[in-house]
Amino acid sequence: MGIRNEQILEIMRTTPRHLFVDEALASRAYENTALPIGFGQTISQPYIVAAMSEALFVSGRLDRVLEVGAGCGYQSAVLSQIAGRVFAIERIAALANKLRSRLHELRFNNVRVRHGDGFLGWAENAPYDAILVAAAPVGVPAQLLEQLAVGGRMVIPVGRAGSQELRLLTRTAAGIEEEILERVSFVPLLDGTS
Ligand code: SAH
Repeated sequence: MGIRNEQILEIMRTTPRHLFVDEALASRAYENTALPIGFGQTISQPYIVAAMSEALFVSGRLDRVLEVGAGCGYQSAVLSQIAGRVFAIERIAALANKLRSRLHELRFNNVRVRHGDGFLGWAENAPYDAILVAAAPVGVPAQLLEQLAVGGRMVIPVGRAGSQELRLLTRTAAGIEEEILERVSFVPLLDGTS
């Protein structure tokens, strides 16, 4: 499907996606589809996880990565294998708790999970070399842009249901460069926590 980075492809081959969904859905875990993870949310389609990871991972290892909308933790597990440290935020407490214990059990030890509102980012650990947002706001949140390092990249779906595009933003010394990658369909990025 156009993913070329060998390291990303190998991570996609070896990360056990069936351990991130309910047992009843485990037999479908290796289909290229989104699946329900409860609370009206979905685990992202594997293709989109790979495409977003590849867009961020262009020049060697990343030190700090911020992930907004960690859901079941599958994307966090993928990121943890290309990053020094992953800071993952999830707004639904039950999902945040579940993903924290799952990542711990599976020994993805370089991921820190916070139950919180991803619109605000996670300022204490900024700036980030990469930011991955897995739910769509209608515009790019200013606080996330502020937490991006110079030379850092952010991949984020933007727009309302039915008309979203995946954008790649790069912070340069001169400002922000923006590229539109493809049309996508994500759940909305919501304010506050639950
Ligand atoms: N990559 C995840 C995607 C989960 S769907 C996976 O594969 O499991 C998107 C997630 O974003 C949902 O779990 C939803 O609760 C969360 N989300 C929505 N708005 C958010 C916000 N403001 N802050 C943090 N998480 C948010």
